[in-house]
Amino acid sequence: MALRTQFFWKLYSVYAVLIVITALTVGLLIQLRITRDSLQRIEHSLEQQCQMLDAIAADSLRAGTALSGLDTQLHLLGDQTGTRFTVVREDGVVLADSEMAASEMENHSNRPELQAAGSSGSGVSRRFSRSVHERMMYYAIAVKDGDRLLGYVRTALPLSDIDSQLQALRLTVLVGMGFTLLVSLPLGLYFARRVTRPVTRMMEVARGISGGNYSQRAEVMTHDELGQLAEMLNNMSDNLSQRMQIIARDRSQLEAILASMSEGLIAVDGQERVVHVNRVAASYCRQEFDNIAGRHAWECLAVPELVQSLSAAISNGSTIQRELELVGTGNNRWISFVVTPWRDTGGQVLGAVGIIRDITGTHEFEHMRTQFIANASHELKSPVTAIRGLAETILNDPEMEHSIRDRFMGSILDESLRLSGLVNDMLSLSRVEHGFHEREDEPLDLAGTVRLAIDNFSSKAEAAGVDVQLELPDSPITVMGDQENLLLAIGNLVDNAIKYAGTKGLVEVRIDIDGDRPRVSVRDYGQGIPEEHHSRIFERFYRVDKARSRQLGGTGLGLAIVKHVMIAHGGEVRLKSSPGKGSEFSLIFPGQRA
Ligand code: ADP
Repeated sequence: MALRTQFFWKLYSVYAVLIVITALTVGLLIQLRITRDSLQRIEHSLEQQCQMLDAIAADSLRAGTALSGLDTQLHLLGDQTGTRFTVVREDGVVLADSEMAASEMENHSNRPELQAAGSSGSGVSRRFSRSVHERMMYYAIAVKDGDRLLGYVRTALPLSDIDSQLQALRLTVLVGMGFTLLVSLPLGLYFARRVTRPVTRMMEVARGISGGNYSQRAEVMTHDELGQLAEMLNNMSDNLSQRMQIIARDRSQLEAILASMSEGLIAVDGQERVVHVNRVAASYCRQEFDNIAGRHAWECLAVPELVQSLSAAISNGSTIQRELELVGTGNNRWISFVVTPWRDTGGQVLGAVGIIRDITGTHEFEHMRTQFIANASHELKSPVTAIRGLAETILNDPEMEHSIRDRFMGSILDESLRLSGLVNDMLSLSRVEHGFHEREDEPLDLAGTVRLAIDNFSSKAEAAGVDVQLELPDSPITVMGDQENLLLAIGNLVDNAIKYAGTKGLVEVRIDIDGDRPRVSVRDYGQGIPEEHHSRIFERFYRVDKARSRQLGGTGLGLAIVKHVMIAHGGEVRLKSSPGKGSEFSLIFPGQRA
């Protein structure tokens, strides 16, 4: 508002000053002109009257004295014209005057109009008359006889008349000026407002634009420059609004893309201040700040190595790649990050971008793989070494007793059977783990499948003196699955239960529904499994009692196969067991939809 007032008053004061100056100048010029014209006119009439007087007074002047009748003539003329007439001899002695007695008048040789007439033929003077006591205008001409100066005739008019005329004129001019100002100053207010109003409005719109408000419009009231400016401002506001919308859309798109990245992304500027951090990368930041954009990376990042790498990438302009373990309060995590400097088009480094990946899973997988290879090699090594040793012993001793050789051969057979069991289990596990994509599920009658699995172990159960009992539900249960794999899983559980059935010699297999989930439970009343082994029992090659498992022909892979078969079927395997009371393994299938 202050600006508006300023601009308005600036414009208006310039206008008002111009108006006043113009009015004064015009008034002054008119007055000067009129004054000059009036004086010239009076001067001209005085000159004409002088010439008339010249003819009347010439004889008296030639005679050097006022001839009779001159005085009367002058008085008469004076009364008729209102002009004062004076006849002055060459030496300044007044011969006659229309208003005073010549004898009473002083010598006039020093009067400026007479002096001027003496030298140039005529002279004018405006001054106060000591004789008549008022301001007069005098005009005198020299009266000559050939070259000889005889004297002067002078006409005079009182200036009071002219002054009052001029005064009246001045008043008229002043009234005119006053009227002009009275009309033009309010008009100026109106015009100044007309000019400033659109400017003020445009200023408000521009202020709105700078504050992000693009909805305001400047009215286009004229087609002049101001109108065009308002139109351009409106267009600019529209364009800006569109561009801002595009920028905002692009920005939110970019943010959505960055937020949905599974990798963490953090970008810092040249001063290592955070420019952007996505949701994943925020999990590597200290939690005490609500908004970390604009803060220094060292302030908010909880990974010092990442801070160092960002700093190094900015100063060296090189890409840095690292892998490290984050030792935290919970499970340790492994991360890998790549930090790359980002540059402007001129190649100048403006900051750095770090991409962080959680590679804990890959690390665990890698660890499991090496562990598996080490375990598998170890498991394979013992039967191979045994077979080799036995075979070498037999070969090196051709005289060996038959009974010993037969025992050795028997051991070779046992070890090779163990070896083949191990290889078979490893192949089964690999097939279950990696081959389930190609597997084609089909509806299976659970009871039929379980019965088939039990039948596969009937001779083994009989040999071990174990009674395997099957408890079926009232109505048949169908699951979607791969029969070969399910036979393998149920078979492994039945096999283990027979192996670890203990003295009671009873294995119970039950099929039922847990909630809406089909369940197959295999229960034995053997030694059971202590609680501390429960979490690891399904790992490959994990055994509670290694020697006993070996002795029973176990490979340590059975439960791992069971677990993976159930994962492939979208289900799970659960264990309930306590030492001395036996174990119950349950295969739980995904819920059945009505
Ligand atoms: P294994 O071939 O040795 O049986 P598994 O993976 O099938 O390998 O089982 C792993 C270990 O779990 C076994 O060595 C054994 O110690 C234990 N285990 C499995 N089933 C039972 C069970 N029913 N009773 C007691 N222990 C069991």
